[in-house]
Amino acid sequence: IVWESDAERRRFTFVSRRAELLGYPVSSWLDEDGFWHAIVHPDDVELAELYFRDAVERSEHHEYEYRARTADGRTMWVRDRVRVIRQSNGSVQLRGVTVDEELRRELEERLLQSQKMDAVGQLAGGVAHDFNNLLVVISGYTDLLLSRLEDEPALAQLREIKQAANRAAALTEQLLAFGRRAPTVSEPVDLDDLVRGLDPMLRRLIDEDVALSIDTDGGYVRADRGQLEQVLVNLVINARDAMPGGGEIQIETTTAVIAHGEAADLGLTSGSWVVLKVRDTGIGMTAETKARIFEPFFTTKERGKGTGLGLATVYGIVQQGGGRVAVDTELGAGTKFSIYLPAAPSPHEDVVEVEDSPRTPVILVVEDEPAVRGLVRSVLEAEGY
Ligand code: ADP
Ligand code: MG
Repeated sequence: IVWESDAERRRFTFVSRRAELLGYPVSSWLDEDGFWHAIVHPDDVELAELYFRDAVERSEHHEYEYRARTADGRTMWVRDRVRVIRQSNGSVQLRGVTVDEELRRELEERLLQSQKMDAVGQLAGGVAHDFNNLLVVISGYTDLLLSRLEDEPALAQLREIKQAANRAAALTEQLLAFGRRAPTVSEPVDLDDLVRGLDPMLRRLIDEDVALSIDTDGGYVRADRGQLEQVLVNLVINARDAMPGGGEIQIETTTAVIAHGEAADLGLTSGSWVVLKVRDTGIGMTAETKARIFEPFFTTKERGKGTGLGLATVYGIVQQGGGRVAVDTELGAGTKFSIYLPAAPSPHEDVVEVEDSPRTPVILVVEDEPAVRGLVRSVLEAEGY
């Protein structure tokens, strides 16, 4: 909005048509006494007055941000750039440009959020990596003792230690996936196994008033396990967020053989696919929302709740794996995400059965972590190597 005002009379003498950005007609700007004062947010009035007084008394050009109140009751961040013009007769005129700062502020906030997520991910990944090494040592030596001791009460206690170490290892694995410290690998992954393995973690994510059911009848895909877990976790978090009043999440894996004729409709090539479906009974989406969900930073959630990166990540991972994401949604009735991934042969079919080979007497162990190296050596020696 370009404007000009008479500082003494505190009246605008000119405003551009863009003034309607705030919802008030140009005539209000020009004709109403104290109009500007009235639209500045109460919390920012003091600051605005300060700049105004400095401008008039000391002819200081200035630039500052404040919140304005729009005609329909919203608050909008704007930035004013003001020049002070002192006329020869001593009267003071202000000329300025008022710019909508909403988008810039929002982008800035989201960038900060995503940088924070990145930093948290790196930190979590780093800690998890070191912690994992310690866990290997703890559970490895526990295994050794379990195989050597005879004393029953001591064995029971060791089993407790072993179980706790297993639980800790499961947690660090999640952290590694989140921190993307796990390198991208393409390996045969049993999707059913992966879904069932995540079950306890998914239950911890959702509230008691959300029922979670899992039905697996899929198969093997070639993927990065950590990334695939991330896909499922992101979809479940979204389903949860879509059901603030509770509801049902159904996770299902199936296979689909797509014939030549129907392939194009689904945007797939014909052949065998493994399908991961996540269905919720939540709020659903409007057509406008559905059209934008995969855009990075697109979110309908309030500040601090959504990053808008969840589905962008899902899309990226699935796309990279040669798959496709399909979305069915109905406002107020729920949403279903279907992830199509190319089916891979079960790795067991590839395994060549080897005759029980005679034990090799010497094995060279290379490991940079001394505690882990010691453990591996102990285990191998215990096995007669
Ligand atoms: P975020 O969850 O941080 O908002 P996402 O990329 O995961 O970002 O999702 C983007 C948007 O897609 C969400 O803000 C929401 O509007 C919509 N969305 C995603 N999943 C669902 C769902 N299961 N039900 C309704 N809306 C959804
Ligand atoms: Mg999300």
